[in-house]
Amino acid sequence: MNLPHRLTELFFPRKCPVCGRRLEKSEVICLYCMSTLPRTSFHLQADNALAYRFYGSIKVEQAAGYFFYDKTSPYRNILYELKYKGNTQIGKEMGRQMATYISSSEKGFFKQIDAIIPVPLSKKRLHKRGYNQSECLAEGISQVTGIPVYTWALEREIDNPSQTNRNDFSERWKNVEGIFQATPQAIRLQEKHLLLVDDVITTGATLIACGKAIKRACPDCRISILVLGITKNFG
Ligand SMILES: [Zn+2]
Repeated sequence: MNLPHRLTELFFPRKCPVCGRRLEKSEVICLYCMSTLPRTSFHLQADNALAYRFYGSIKVEQAAGYFFYDKTSPYRNILYELKYKGNTQIGKEMGRQMATYISSSEKGFFKQIDAIIPVPLSKKRLHKRGYNQSECLAEGISQVTGIPVYTWALEREIDNPSQTNRNDFSERWKNVEGIFQATPQAIRLQEKHLLLVDDVITTGATLIACGKAIKRACPDCRISILVLGITKNFG
């Protein structure tokens, strides 16, 4: 660690986004909060509440998520750090932690996956934020599993229009349908098993729109889903 960095650490120590404890050098979340993370076990059950979200919309081989959160949960801060505070390290580390957790089961969630595709941001949003939070997660997952990350297959035309007054599921779905488009190179993904990665899932509408865009370009590819945070009132 160089001197300016050390001084910053001394005067502005990094704190755990979940509980506020001071973090050790290598930590992005403290050990205590990591150990009490409300993990899902969706990767152990093919027919889980997350997979159910996609029934009737798009065929999903496997669907898994890492942890539950709700409006009052301090774990929500992990997602806030990743999305709005420029904390790309937390994304990569959570990607690694999530992949390690899921790989530890004998179910072999990653075994048949050929490539990871992070849900893209629009060019405008990417420019404004400077990074794609789902890509940070995908990089972490890739470091643990060795599966390549493809960011060239899918584009986002526009960001989600405001969903503030759109509580009805079908309204939300219509709202995001058609905002993703597969690139001409996506034809190379024919017959591949692709893992779509996103930071959070609420209705599933974004991931469904993403999957449909890829399926339009490559009808023979297979789709699986992995997300970091799942709202507690899910399904
Ligand atoms: Zn903590």
